[in-house]
Amino acid sequence: MAVKKSKKKEQRRTEQEESQAPVVAFLSFPAFLTLVSSSVEVFKKETIGYLVGFKGANKYIVEYAIPYQTAEHGFVHATVDMERVGRINEILGKVSQGLEYVGDFHSHTVFGDSPATVVPSNEDLKSTIPGEVNLICAVNMKKRAVRWYQNGRGILAGTIGDYRIEIGGYYVEAIAIGRKYQRVIVKCPAVTGIAQIKD
Ligand SMILES: [Zn+2]
Repeated sequence: MAVKKSKKKEQRRTEQEESQAPVVAFLSFPAFLTLVSSSVEVFKKETIGYLVGFKGANKYIVEYAIPYQTAEHGFVHATVDMERVGRINEILGKVSQGLEYVGDFHSHTVFGDSPATVVPSNEDLKSTIPGEVNLICAVNMKKRAVRWYQNGRGILAGTIGDYRIEIGGYYVEAIAIGRKYQRVIVKCPAVTGIAQIKD
């Protein structure tokens, strides 16, 4: 039974990931706090925002997560005016000392009986900009409290208040038809410690 289960997991992994070195996103504690608190604040609606930090080879350092205050919050998807992204880049370009716009985040929420997941929707993938990191913060009602940990699939999970939160990442290398994306491993040593990996 146990063998069967892990085989299934293996399969799911190869479907979603390519055989290259995994891309990792390191979250600073302030970025983590903003992601989680902004996602919980608008629950059961969705939040959307952008990520500022540094890009390296197969690595993103996310220093800040900044929610768009004027995003249209919907149950299905939050949207944002693209001109705003341009203005933010302009400011960053002038004052940032190496900080740059590295990607986006948004939350997923429960919809009827369907629990929120960190899997990008077709709509997410349609609007994903290649090369940017995308974080999805899934918010569900918690069943029991757990400490923050990183699971075997690179998802950061834990509970806060009445909620269970999962933060998953993905990116796309190039615009392609269909659901082609690569998982990004999300790490936040500030909340998990260095080596806490559970399945
Ligand atoms: Zn989404």
